Amino acid sequence: MTTAAQHGQAALEPVDSYLAAVLSAIRPLAARELSVAEADGAVLAADVAAAWPLPPFDNSAMDGYAVRAADVASASAAAPAALPVRGEIPAGDTRTLQLAAGTCLRIMTGALLPAGADAVVPVEWTDGGTGQVTIRQPAAAGNAIKRAGDDAVPGDVLLSAGTWLGPAAIGLLAAAGRGTVLARPRPRVTVISTGNELAEPGTPVVPGQIWESNGVMLAAAARQLGCAASRHPIVPDDTDALLAAIEAALPAADLLVTSGGVSMGGEHDVVKAALRRLGTVRFTKVAMQPGMPQGFGVVGEHAVPIFTLPGNPVSAYVSFQLFVRPALDALQDQSAKRLPGARAVLTEPVRSPAGKRSFLRGILDPATGSVTPVSGQASHQLASLAKANALIIVPEPVVEMAAGDIADVLELP
Ligand code: AMP
Ligand code: MG
Repeated sequence: MTTAAQHGQAALEPVDSYLAAVLSAIRPLAARELSVAEADGAVLAADVAAAWPLPPFDNSAMDGYAVRAADVASASAAAPAALPVRGEIPAGDTRTLQLAAGTCLRIMTGALLPAGADAVVPVEWTDGGTGQVTIRQPAAAGNAIKRAGDDAVPGDVLLSAGTWLGPAAIGLLAAAGRGTVLARPRPRVTVISTGNELAEPGTPVVPGQIWESNGVMLAAAARQLGCAASRHPIVPDDTDALLAAIEAALPAADLLVTSGGVSMGGEHDVVKAALRRLGTVRFTKVAMQPGMPQGFGVVGEHAVPIFTLPGNPVSAYVSFQLFVRPALDALQDQSAKRLPGARAVLTEPVRSPAGKRSFLRGILDPATGSVTPVSGQASHQLASLAKANALIIVPEPVVEMAAGDIADVLELP
């Protein structure tokens, strides 16, 4: 590993202090009553306790016959027990039935156990009879019965405040009978891509134009984190058009991401020019590569956070993962999660500019604990990003790392 003295980089803001400043400016979304259907990806703002037993009543775990265990205690293949079948109880049958001694009732999975029954004989142990059934083996008391409350009893905390509601949690809320829960909703993210050169994917382009990729990419990255995300139509390099796009997006957004228009190019950097006027967005050169030009602030009457990411697709993507991702956690009052980290042996040397933290695309092989930088590390090279599964971190003072050196890596989702 080779380090170098830093020259002329005093104006750059360190990655960590930039992230800390961003996170300290995020106010969590207000918690509200969400229907269970809209609560997936939300974060609970209060504990949820069971109001009823789960399951709510004793019921059959199998299709079979509800019996008294004593009536089948001596059943065997050689000497089966024979019981009259006094009826059938399908799932959803709400009658209160009584099982008489020496008889049985045909019962289906999920059906209410009749009073007096203490076991269910699976149909597989019988001849499947309808008027009378022969039973070839004994069923112990409790056999194939789902007892009321065996999953949870009233008062049990099913899910505690701060829980991110994934599929199983959502299922549990519904199973517990909840129609709504108090939660911070999954953030709604809108991505606004700027650039006169941008064209809709699937439409023809002429030299000088490129297909717009950041919009779908960043919206997909937000969705991967459980957010609702949409992509605004392409915005040309025009301050009024950008401000109009932001205004149009604000009512349905908890967080805005723009791409492009924040580099050093003066009048063409429309995002910078337009948002600087508002006075609530700060533009910063962060000591990193890719992704040096960053901007963050709030817009609109509800102070919606806005990230102005650089336009180069790899810069935009890395910036999203480093800064927007933890900000989305903060919006739900969750501790900010970094990308999962690992340490891995470099299979090839890497270089990095002095004074910047480099995030190089690499292929991490967890089996060997090694990481191989992909070829093509420029900020526009999306093909190499799509091959990578990790970012290799080269710290600020380090300009060169050798094959065999151990590097910190971040695993890409
Ligand atoms: P900018 O940050 O606007 O100066 O853009 C930097 C580079 O990224 C330029 O080569 C742009 O053409 C490219 N770029 C900007 N926005 C996008 C986008 N949404 N999709 C693909 N490339 C983009
Ligand atoms: Mg541009």
